[in-house]
Amino acid sequence: MTWEDEKQKYSKMSVDEKRQIYKSYVKLDDIPTWKQFADNKKLLPKIEMLPNCEIDNTKNSTLADKISYFSGDITHLEIDAVVNAANSSLLGGGGVDGAIHRAAGGTLKEECKTLGGCPTGEAKITGGYKLPAKHVIHTVGPQGEKTDLLKNCYKNSLKLMLDNKLRSIAFPCISTGIYGYPNLPAAHVAAYTVRKHLEANAGAVDRVIFCLFMDEDKKIYEGLLQSYFPLN
Ligand code: ADP
Repeated sequence: MTWEDEKQKYSKMSVDEKRQIYKSYVKLDDIPTWKQFADNKKLLPKIEMLPNCEIDNTKNSTLADKISYFSGDITHLEIDAVVNAANSSLLGGGGVDGAIHRAAGGTLKEECKTLGGCPTGEAKITGGYKLPAKHVIHTVGPQGEKTDLLKNCYKNSLKLMLDNKLRSIAFPCISTGIYGYPNLPAAHVAAYTVRKHLEANAGAVDRVIFCLFMDEDKKIYEGLLQSYFPLN
């Protein structure tokens, strides 16, 4: 079967049929929003947003319903799209990239081969194959702390989400693993860029999930989301 045929086969399956294939999954409805997560919980101390970042917290007070803080494996999420922190070949690698390719099965690589790679900061979309997620959005993060390029990864992934009328997406902490971007500055870029996108496009989005895998990121995001997505 060609990758095109296999992609079509999966896209036509009912959710129940597909669940026979991927077995372990987390439904969007079972992922609390940031607001629900934080409700009645004693959170770690707030981390302030970057100075002069032009965010007005007297507006957009409902955005805490549009995001989630999720600890765990991105390959389990049964949502519209998961973002892959890929390398520029788009042919698979280590870390989250390896995990996504393993879970999706070999046909994902066949589709990726047709894309001709991807420059740093840009993003490309494929099917999700055996993943619970319907699509994978592959983006290539910068190596080291290059703010504008990391910002572009989030922006371009969110733009693909919008262009393809997808309503739920999950991001890993792009570039903070093998690519060595320091965790806290990377989290500021992620939270800021998602917030700006939601300010402009909240109606088109059900959920943006920050998928946190390392304890350091779990701590950082718990502090930081309180600033970028205030709870009251
Ligand atoms: P990069 O090359 O962009 O740094 P990595 O895959 O090395 O990408 O790391 C990005 C982030 O993804 C790290 O925080 C890493 O711990 C995390 N990660 C690794 N595997 C998974 C997974 N299965 N689900 C979610 N996040 C993961």
